[in-house]
Amino acid sequence: MNKSNETMRAVVWDGPYKLSLKEVKMPVPKKNEVLIRTKSVGICGSDLEVYDGRFRQSIPPLIIGHEGGGIVESVGDEVTSVSKGDRVIAECLIYCGECENCRKGLYNLCSNHKVMGMIDYDGEYAEYFVAPERNLYILPDNISWEEAGLIDTLVGPVGGIDKTNVNICETVAVYGPGPAGLFFCKLAKLKGAGKVYLIGTRDSRLAFGEKYGADVILNTQKDKVEEYIINDTNGRGVDLVIESAGSHQALNSGIGVIKKGGELLIYGVFGGGPVPVDIQPIQMNELTIKGINSGPFKYPVAINLISKGLIDAKSVISHTFKIEELPNLFATGFISNRKENYMKGVVLFD
Ligand SMILES: [Zn+2]
Ligand SMILES: [Zn+2]
Repeated sequence: MNKSNETMRAVVWDGPYKLSLKEVKMPVPKKNEVLIRTKSVGICGSDLEVYDGRFRQSIPPLIIGHEGGGIVESVGDEVTSVSKGDRVIAECLIYCGECENCRKGLYNLCSNHKVMGMIDYDGEYAEYFVAPERNLYILPDNISWEEAGLIDTLVGPVGGIDKTNVNICETVAVYGPGPAGLFFCKLAKLKGAGKVYLIGTRDSRLAFGEKYGADVILNTQKDKVEEYIINDTNGRGVDLVIESAGSHQALNSGIGVIKKGGELLIYGVFGGGPVPVDIQPIQMNELTIKGINSGPFKYPVAINLISKGLIDAKSVISHTFKIEELPNLFATGFISNRKENYMKGVVLFD
């Protein structure tokens, strides 16, 4: 089937604050690529950074959206692992496979990377999109399209928890009760953590903590977070702090409650530039600091966690939208201002 003359609807970013629904040419898969009829795409905080120009690697015009999946429509000549009709989710990181990190299996750190919907590769807020065959994972039948829109959100926390040394019965403090923070709470528990503290500023989000395994929920507006955690751990501090808020207040509070020799994992995005951090405890208490962006080979794990019911992906979805609603949602600040207790949105297609 030759679709090169056909068109489709897509949300195109034409530079800061310029986002519109357009009729564009249908993408044609190259020999190692697959054309997918889009079914769902998770809305990501980094879409907002592309929208307003903060994410400097994005160059317009660009179809945005990078947390999506759909049904295979057609495949390039060399594609063998998927075929028409398969339900798939696409990993958004496009890697070269040749550089030093790729050859070490660290393709998440590829030196020549592109990102669907963000860097040099069109994304998924469109009726169809193309993805390299090796970026696709088949979805089990028991994962709904809504849940599929959360797989990418789960991948980072899975990679993050894997990077830590958290062990059976240890203590963990998670800052930032967004979808990723909540997933971190549950994953820490799955890895054996004995007690998980969830810290945030909004009761509406903190209310999800219990469902995701948090044992203690603290609101920085009302509670003396550091004092509480230090007392509660008999003056020792927690084994691991996870910063999933992207806030320097959270970062400094976290550094203040890590035990001597403990670990700090940074997953929150600090896109606004340098922030003041109290370095002394890092040196004096010999803390280990790790960063996590996304985890290589973690899509199958995330898919399994949802399919087996070990992680509830559905509960964090606060809104679903149609593609034509997106330009207005961005323009009115619905998502950035978290109107109507917005937590996570998924764009669904017919
Ligand atoms: Zn994302
Ligand atoms: Zn590479």
